[in-house]
Amino acid sequence: MLFTEEHKAIQKTVRDFVEKELNPHTEEWEKAGAFPAHEVFKKMGDLGLLGITKPEAHGGLGLDYSYQVAFSEELGLCQSGGVSLAIGVQTDMATPALARFGSNELKEEFLAPAIAGEKVASIAVSEPGAGSDVAATKTQARKDGDDYIINGTKMWITNATQADFFCLLANTSDDPAHKNKSLIVVPSHLPGISFSEKLNKFGMRSSDTAQVFFDDVRVPRRNLIGQEGAGFTMQMIQFQEERLFGSAMGLKSMESCLNDTIEYLRERKTFGQPVLHNQVIHYRLAELQTEIEALRALVYQATETYINGGDVTKLASMAKLKAGRLTREVTDTCVQYWGGMGYMFDNQVNRYHRDLRLTGIGGGADEIMLGIITKLMGIAPKVQAYAAQQKND
Ligand SMILES: Cc1cc2nc3c(=O)[nH]c(=O)nc-3n(C[C@H](O)[C@H](O)[C@H](O)COP(=O)(O)OP(=O)(O)OC[C@H]3O[C@@H](n4cnc5c(N)ncnc54)[C@H](O)[C@@H]3O)c2cc1C
Repeated sequence: MLFTEEHKAIQKTVRDFVEKELNPHTEEWEKAGAFPAHEVFKKMGDLGLLGITKPEAHGGLGLDYSYQVAFSEELGLCQSGGVSLAIGVQTDMATPALARFGSNELKEEFLAPAIAGEKVASIAVSEPGAGSDVAATKTQARKDGDDYIINGTKMWITNATQADFFCLLANTSDDPAHKNKSLIVVPSHLPGISFSEKLNKFGMRSSDTAQVFFDDVRVPRRNLIGQEGAGFTMQMIQFQEERLFGSAMGLKSMESCLNDTIEYLRERKTFGQPVLHNQVIHYRLAELQTEIEALRALVYQATETYINGGDVTKLASMAKLKAGRLTREVTDTCVQYWGGMGYMFDNQVNRYHRDLRLTGIGGGADEIMLGIITKLMGIAPKVQAYAAQQKND
């Protein structure tokens, strides 16, 4: 995949935005445990950055996903992962299903203002008892006339306290677990919705994350995205963009972490010479840069498959798995090379380490990616068949 002048123009716009509008404020936002999402998103909406792949009819740019990858990669230059994560929720996690499967009416009411940066979106899938196992979702949306009445609890919801709407996964029938779920757009200010305190996190500290409680929340049934009962499948499709976003976003964050470390090690001396001059160190840094380039190639290959209409599940899962592992390897190595300074909470390399640790957990942990990959390679035992076989043996 080669970036054209148009891709480069988007990258420059993002880079300038990150440098001028985000990075000067990241210290303040990290300390506050939140950033002003409405203010930041409005500026991004004005630049056309929140709807790169979204339909032009609703204010998007209507470009293919390679442009979104160009955007996500550049967003990785933001020095506060919580801000990039929140932006990714808006563009790649809470709105892809709405854009693809939502009615025109629903898109006009929620997608268009999300693209314009006038409404903040959240994705509400995870629950206290259903993270990796999305099928174990317990939240119920019971039909009552023209409405759904929603009851349940969602956990670890990014943008929660600032959101204007949730893209919520809930059970709408008693059918089997993969066929009873629906995605519903739920405005966040309805009676019956309440929030926990902001969750005190290891990293991503500038994004507001909370539990969301739904207690007899009444939502019109027209807020259903696509078909009732197809929510699990639509969420699995939506996850592909989330996973590509996470993989692409990590690339430049890792490179910044590496570059900051190289600069530090050039200056820092031990035993009369810069630490960087130790072959064990500069070889290791070169190895990590090579790994980042390999991940970049995988992300681009997955993107090409996706924009050509292929099934990207295997490649996106591989990219997400590799990104989860490599972000740990790169940032942990950098913390090591910064020594005591790397152990300091306010150190930028320390922040990369904490922020990027989420890559291997959120949106499907490493082990979940391995499960998908093995299934698609045809080497995973079918759980029920395996259990029956064990019984017969
Ligand atoms: C900062 C943050 C922001 C988040 N934002 C959102 C959000 O906006 N919206 C949302 O819906 N969710 C969000 N999440 C939730 C996130 O997607 C889940 O945490 C993630 O899917 C893992 O689920 P879990 O925490 O319940 O882990 P569990 O499902 O309890 O799994 C724990 C660990 O067990 C291992 N494991 C699980 N299953 C298997 C298996 N089958 N085989 C082998 N090992 C396994 C994995 O290592 C996994 O990490 C967020 C989480 C965090 C921490």
